Amino acid sequence: MEEQKNFYITTTLPYVNAPLHMGHALEFVRADAFARYKKLQGYTVYFNSGADEHGQKIYSKALENGEEPQTFVDKNFEVFKKQIESFGISDDIHLTRTTNAHHVMAAQDFWNRVNNNGYIYKKTYQAKYCVGCEAEKTDSELDENGRCLLHPSLIPEIINEENYFFKFSEFQEKLLAFYDTKPHFIIPEFRYNEMKAFVKNGLQDFSISRVKEKMPWGVPVPGDDTQVMYVWFDALVNYISTLGYPDIEGDFKTFWVEGSPTQYCGKDNTRFQSVMWQAMLMAAELPNSEQIVVNGFITGDGGVRMSKTLGNVVDPLAIATEYGTDTLRFFLLKEISSFEDSPFTIERFRDSYQANLANGLGNLTSRIMKMVTNYDVQYILPTDTDLAEFDDAVPEDFHTKLDAFDLKAGMDDIWREVNSLDWLIQNKEPFKIAKTDMAEAQRIVGDLAIRLYIIGFLLQPFMPKTAETIMTLVKEKKSPDKPLFNRLEK
Ligand SMILES: [Zn+2]
Repeated sequence: MEEQKNFYITTTLPYVNAPLHMGHALEFVRADAFARYKKLQGYTVYFNSGADEHGQKIYSKALENGEEPQTFVDKNFEVFKKQIESFGISDDIHLTRTTNAHHVMAAQDFWNRVNNNGYIYKKTYQAKYCVGCEAEKTDSELDENGRCLLHPSLIPEIINEENYFFKFSEFQEKLLAFYDTKPHFIIPEFRYNEMKAFVKNGLQDFSISRVKEKMPWGVPVPGDDTQVMYVWFDALVNYISTLGYPDIEGDFKTFWVEGSPTQYCGKDNTRFQSVMWQAMLMAAELPNSEQIVVNGFITGDGGVRMSKTLGNVVDPLAIATEYGTDTLRFFLLKEISSFEDSPFTIERFRDSYQANLANGLGNLTSRIMKMVTNYDVQYILPTDTDLAEFDDAVPEDFHTKLDAFDLKAGMDDIWREVNSLDWLIQNKEPFKIAKTDMAEAQRIVGDLAIRLYIIGFLLQPFMPKTAETIMTLVKEKKSPDKPLFNRLEK
């Protein structure tokens, strides 16, 4: 059978009511690194993201600013685009806005499919609703003060109205059977176990609309102009509206049906992606996702929450502006645990920068390339095809680790190679050998240059600009005019 060569990956869609935080940066950078990795392996990749522009949170914020919601989201979408540019995200990313006319039509079509299959009904109900989460909360999900555990500063709203409901409860068995067929559906495994336990506990039907009079900022419910759709029910459809759905040929077939659709998300989002969205797809009789990859939270020092009150918030845009996009990507991909919570502090960031980039990779590149030019070293570099196919050139298990979304382990492999080249220079001392045996010095430095080139090759998904600089220097046998990474003052 011919190997499948299409790949679809998406992030979740951030709300555009506030600047992106470090957790968003992590999700975007990881999804982007993975998309670039698949491209290098010869896949045609569809990389999706966008802006979630409906819901109570956006609506309230727009009113607070005295703006029309559409004007508010138009403006914030431009800010959002600049922010993700600063994360070094691939130019070919597809950004869908949920206020886009095609998306609105697709969300309504999706609703009709689910409704025609008998999974939507209307009833009067009462619930506590966290606007921060844009989700209903049961009492067990609230703290002793009745506040959401993730949004303790917000008082949950009481909803008491007649809404449309999704028959979520009918999907318990179907979801469990589906999970049985997919042993790695959620990565990492401990998150998968949490979700299986959640589903086994029983699912409750949930409201998928709001009374328009109270909250008009949403996609109109087809056939009932007194109601708008619940923001999640509309936003999740983005993953397929971007592919042309309701047309189920074309990109939908190429990437959703045949592209192993993979979704990155934060741990607070697992339930929406791996349970709710999967049940929605089943209800619409559309294929399920292939994989959900779940990030931990980025915290302050000692695992405490980042918060303005504690003054421990690190802004990704500020980091990218001061130290460079690739440096932000480096820290997120190399120093943040692939799946657990981990801290991002300025101290940790600067220490790692100094050790691994300024004194590490940057210095190594300068030293090797200076010797290449001084000793007029000649070498023949492997071609990209050689490198893609030549397993000896990459660290053992490198691809296995990346295929399992353990991007940090891949970066650790690359830095082991950086450190072993450093070690070789210090122990073989080609700069001394050059004084007595130039041919031998040229041979040693030639090997180092080829291995540096391979480091550049492996770094392409992670730090694209740095990778390109290194590969170009080695190809053109040039030493850098200035350090790749400036040393930090103290
Ligand atoms: Zn909340």
